[in-house]
Amino acid sequence: MSNSESKGYRGKALALLKSFGVKVWNEVIVRTTETEFIGIILPRSAGGNDNLIVLKLRTGYNVGIKVEKIQDIVKTGKEEYLTTFAKKEIVDDPRKPNVKLITTGGTIASRLDYRTGAVVPAFEPEELCAFVPELSEYCNLHTEKLYSVLSEDIGPEQWLGIAKAVARAIEEGYHGIVIAHGTDTMHYTSSLLSFMIQNPPIPIVMVGSQRSSDRPASDAPLNLIYSVKTASESDIAEVSVCAIGPISDSYGLIHRGTRVRKMHSSHRSTFRTIGDIPLAMVDKEKIIPLRSDYNKRRKDRDFKLQISFEEKVALIYYYPNMKPDIIEALIENGYKGIVIAGTGLGHVNKQVYPALKKAHDKGIFILMTVQTLWGYVQMYVYETGRKIMSLGVVPGENLLPEVAYLKLCWALGQTTNHEKVKEIILTPIAGEITEREPTNAYLILQGGIPEVEEFISKLKL
Ligand code: ASP
Repeated sequence: MSNSESKGYRGKALALLKSFGVKVWNEVIVRTTETEFIGIILPRSAGGNDNLIVLKLRTGYNVGIKVEKIQDIVKTGKEEYLTTFAKKEIVDDPRKPNVKLITTGGTIASRLDYRTGAVVPAFEPEELCAFVPELSEYCNLHTEKLYSVLSEDIGPEQWLGIAKAVARAIEEGYHGIVIAHGTDTMHYTSSLLSFMIQNPPIPIVMVGSQRSSDRPASDAPLNLIYSVKTASESDIAEVSVCAIGPISDSYGLIHRGTRVRKMHSSHRSTFRTIGDIPLAMVDKEKIIPLRSDYNKRRKDRDFKLQISFEEKVALIYYYPNMKPDIIEALIENGYKGIVIAGTGLGHVNKQVYPALKKAHDKGIFILMTVQTLWGYVQMYVYETGRKIMSLGVVPGENLLPEVAYLKLCWALGQTTNHEKVKEIILTPIAGEITEREPTNAYLILQGGIPEVEEFISKLKL
């Protein structure tokens, strides 16, 4: 093994790797006196313990294994872990549609920093294209690296920047747009974009991944294929999120940008449409719409760009025994809007009533949503709800809490007149409020059903 392949290993650890014919970035099974690990051999950080082999497990966690305990190391035979990717020379094919890929960072545009073992957002868009050659089968993919941030650091500056970049790409005549973004806050960005870019003529598809693109088990390639296919070929001219549907990866789902939510912190199959059914299924060959009531692709470029944002809006998750000081702090700090994710049909405890009244009297717009996620705010059912409404709190129908938060930021950026804000909030723009939730929308058709069936069939005697 050359020194570059050993990447920091010395002494006994280096000798051990050599004796089993394995090197850094190989995926291996390591058998120890006590147990067995499957993972990728990571380079050793400078000054690291010479007596340890460090593995990145499939769960994403790193583990250091003492050399003396290791009995055997074998390669799993999986593709080797790549550290650099060639940038692809992009040559347009005039028969294919032009699609714009805008990258903002997130895991999908990240690689593992071998010095620290941490994932950092440093993947060039051209590398992404080279990494998944199938993408060029669907379109001429033109890339724009807009930001390089993990999505927890996305805020108004980036939201406005993304909206403007999308508007530019529509005006430039692109056939579809793909936005690579961290998965953690993708549903926030997708809902705000749905309000800022109304009636778009082309698909605007958001994509991310839970495992960095340079990892063997990454979901990035499939998610990219499904989303680029959607942007190139589908007639769904809406802001959507496209990602692996079932745990088995066999198809992707296209979720409406205002009804989607990240529902698993680490699973590759993480996005779910909430309170509705997804827009469509997609695999490498076909796109199957699951409904027909979506905004259809058009040739014109007439869309409405409505950029506005009020930053002094808070989203608070109610919990039993919440004290009024939380609301008081928002009043003191000059907040203009509060979204509450209340319990059940939209409730909070009596302790906070006076603070809510005070907030309302001071001109803060208060919007109620439900922390159950599925279902509607219904404040006429219990005395509690009626009382809270009498304090000036507006029921937010079936707006998801995060979507309500961004819609309120967006509405208060346009007007401070509460009647007008209420009208904007309660008038659906992009499917964020629906008349009813279909009965089959409660976790059905969202992937995972075959797995549930398999699980249950094993339990049947
Ligand atoms: N923390 C990352 C992000 O949201 C996670 C991901 O991309 O999946 O940027």
